[in-house]
Amino acid sequence: MVDLHLHSTFSDGSDSPEALVELAAGAGLAAIALTDHDTTDGTERFLAAAAGRGIQTITGIELSVEGSEGSLHMLGYGIDPSDAALQQNLSELRGGRHSRNERILQKLDNLGLPLAYESVVAHAGNDEVVGRPHIAAALVDAGYVATVQEAFEKYLIKGAPAYSDRLRLGTARAIALIRAAGGLPVLAHPHLLRLKRKPLQKLVAQLRKDGLAGIEVWHSQHNANVAAAMHGLARDLGLLVTGGSDYHGHLKGNIRIGVGPGHLRIPDECFAKLKSALSAG
Ligand code: AMP
Ligand code: ZN
Ligand code: FE
Ligand code: FE
Repeated sequence: MVDLHLHSTFSDGSDSPEALVELAAGAGLAAIALTDHDTTDGTERFLAAAAGRGIQTITGIELSVEGSEGSLHMLGYGIDPSDAALQQNLSELRGGRHSRNERILQKLDNLGLPLAYESVVAHAGNDEVVGRPHIAAALVDAGYVATVQEAFEKYLIKGAPAYSDRLRLGTARAIALIRAAGGLPVLAHPHLLRLKRKPLQKLVAQLRKDGLAGIEVWHSQHNANVAAAMHGLARDLGLLVTGGSDYHGHLKGNIRIGVGPGHLRIPDECFAKLKSALSAG
């Protein structure tokens, strides 16, 4: 079993890279990947810890990009973290987060829910990659809402009164950036796009023309039927398949490394195929 979609304290996960590796070792995983949002800063520690535990790894990133059907998440596997263009773009994306977060806090203030930025950063650990889950946790702390979920639904989801969008790359640009950094672009959790079969097929076919290499078939929010449908789509379009739990620790409850909510069993084979596609480059 493998888990190729994990978040650490370097973005909006609650576990350090080393803690993720310990959990993966406990779950008996053969391969893992750290896919933090907009940063590769946890990579070195993650790879070192995994090597120490004899677990195979691949570098990773997750970008939120602007597609024709709205925003979607693009994973990049096997990227070179020292790639200058990649780091320049990641730095701009993190800047876009900062200004977006300021707008959200301003809107919350206008709604009579003032939050100190420091209380948000306290949940993030540092102010490099601060996200809505951290703002949600601060809203809970302040007693404005009971749960992170309630914070999202009442204030932070798209359409809610404190929502504000942030800078995103276009899909073609994100795909090209990942490719240029030596990586393979993979569409994350396609089911969360909530598209019917035909429009999804059309979107993925277009992304493939732009250089998409694979799709995430197995995910905590994909049940067995969805995974089978995604596998079929990948087969039809000649795309690689990957999978991961999207573990965020306590910032996204009831998902465990390797097994997600309980049903995940992601085959080792997908990791081997991803690796060989990279070395075939
Ligand atoms: P951001 O990247 O800062 O815009 O925040 C996106 C993060 O918020 C992702 O990790 C999502 O998993 C999380 N998120 C988005 N919508 C919800 C929701 N309705 N409930 C809980 N978490 C959410
Ligand atoms: Zn996240
Ligand atoms: Fe995602
Ligand atoms: Fe994710």
